[in-house]
Amino acid sequence: MKIKRQKHAKKHLSFYKHNFRFREPYQVLLDGTFCQAALKNQIQIKEQMPKYLMGEVQLCTTSCVIKELESLGKELYGAKLIAQRFQVRHCAHYQSPVGGSACLLSMVADDNSHHYFIATQDHELATKVKKRAGVPLMFIIQNTIVLDKPSPKSVAHVQAVQAGQMLPEHQKHNIEHLKDEQGVSEATERRGKKRKRVGGPNPLSCLKKKKKNEPKAPTPPSEQKKRKRKRKRNKSSVNPTVQTA
Ligand SMILES: [Zn+2]
Repeated sequence: MKIKRQKHAKKHLSFYKHNFRFREPYQVLLDGTFCQAALKNQIQIKEQMPKYLMGEVQLCTTSCVIKELESLGKELYGAKLIAQRFQVRHCAHYQSPVGGSACLLSMVADDNSHHYFIATQDHELATKVKKRAGVPLMFIIQNTIVLDKPSPKSVAHVQAVQAGQMLPEHQKHNIEHLKDEQGVSEATERRGKKRKRVGGPNPLSCLKKKKKNEPKAPTPPSEQKKRKRKRKRNKSSVNPTVQTA
């Protein structure tokens, strides 16, 4: 039974590792309901979580979760004590705390860039978490911690990536990084082209005009200076033609 459970966890974990870049230490965000369930089922989260995930784990929560537990009084005092031992991650509600579930949901916004797992017994929160791709969900069932199988949303995201419909975030970054390294990022590409085109036609047109007006006279240094100025001015005026070309 235990081995089967671990096998599933390993399989689901590798899904998140390969497709969403999850790495150790795994960042597990826990809410009050999970702490309460752990207390009831005598689960030592700190001991069991790393065993179950077969790796280093960083247990964390938010001040909103702790404040909510505080507000719920005696019944959740034990859960509050557990939650207080976790690392408190910065959330966006420093000024006015929100409910624990709303807070945790906000923590996995923006494509879950911090690679959080969400550990909760709150079905409503779980349903909302499943609607986002790349957020592993954990809960306690029958006295044990369980990593839920990847949600249909996560699976669909991965299939879309594999079908080439979208690039995973990290690959976008990698490509940009490679471009930067080789000096072919979009910005430098554009700048390079502009320089060539701006630098190209201007001296030629200047020369032709000079030849027509005064072909034999050598250009005094003062005029050379003027020419340089003209080039600079023309940069902006040439731009529209660059765009149409
Ligand atoms: Zn918060």
